[in-house]
Amino acid sequence: MPKSSLPKIVILGSCCVDFATYAPRLPKPGETLIGNKFTTSFGGKGANQCVAASRLGGNTFMICRIGDDESGIKYKDHLRDEGVDVTHVWITPGISTGVALIAVADNGENQIVIVQGANNHLSVADVENSADLIKSADILIGQLETPYETTLAAFKLNNGIKLFNAAPAKTGIEEILPFCTILCVNESEASLLTNLDVNISNAAIALKKLLDTGCETVIITLGANGAVYATKNNLQCIHVLCENVLPVDTTGAGDAFVGALATFLVTHKIQPLHQIIGAACHIATISVTVEGTQNSYPTKNDVFTKEY
Ligand code: ATP
Repeated sequence: MPKSSLPKIVILGSCCVDFATYAPRLPKPGETLIGNKFTTSFGGKGANQCVAASRLGGNTFMICRIGDDESGIKYKDHLRDEGVDVTHVWITPGISTGVALIAVADNGENQIVIVQGANNHLSVADVENSADLIKSADILIGQLETPYETTLAAFKLNNGIKLFNAAPAKTGIEEILPFCTILCVNESEASLLTNLDVNISNAAIALKKLLDTGCETVIITLGANGAVYATKNNLQCIHVLCENVLPVDTTGAGDAFVGALATFLVTHKIQPLHQIIGAACHIATISVTVEGTQNSYPTKNDVFTKEY
């Protein structure tokens, strides 16, 4: 079946290019140090989730802003190569694409400077210009690496499934929560939103507090402990376990989970919710066994034996 005839997965969010240098130790202020390796990779929560969904066969559309620089052009080409519709990837003149400058020492310590660049320019006007796409989305996904007001405006337009990944952690986002079909957070994001120190032992209390904000379903991911969820129709906290693996690199595992969740909901139409979350955990767990972020996300051929 051609991708274009499948349900639409629309992701509104960030693109960020990660430039990583590796050196025996971190430089002191003012010091120039000779490193031994340099890598460039594609990141940003929005684009990560989009690529995760596209690799699993999702009919994906990215709404984002890039700068008028080489990184932006490369990012757009990359998304296209990953099978993403890039009609709504816009260029902001005179601004850089979002970048993360990362220094990694031999002992694993790191220093990171993030410049959000064009991501900060994704605006409510952009949402208005994408209104047809947003309204036609079977699932709309948003996060918090682009302006909150923009995501809020988009969530108000769509009548399908709205999946909100409230990451990175931020307060003052109460208004969007009643528009969320699914709120997905990790332990630290759940902690900030509930004023609890959320972990597996008190996750049930956190779920109830988060459901009180008006979302229909809340999922808290728990790293190696999988995820818990509850819905407004069934307040019981249900724990979904993930496989026990030796993690190599957990960067972007949460984004793999969100992107996979979207495809299992609308593309592959797995039922019930317990199975959907179990499948998303499975994909995220595969991603932690491979180095890198987007390149660690499996494709549908890696995980399905039959054609969808
Ligand atoms: P990140 O910030 O690294 O992208 P996150 O904090 O948003 O991740 P986590 O809760 O750490 O998200 O992980 C999301 C999912 O990834 C988990 O539900 C699980 O399926 C998988 N996962 C993460 N860490 C591990 C691990 N050590 N072993 C197995 N699975 C893992």
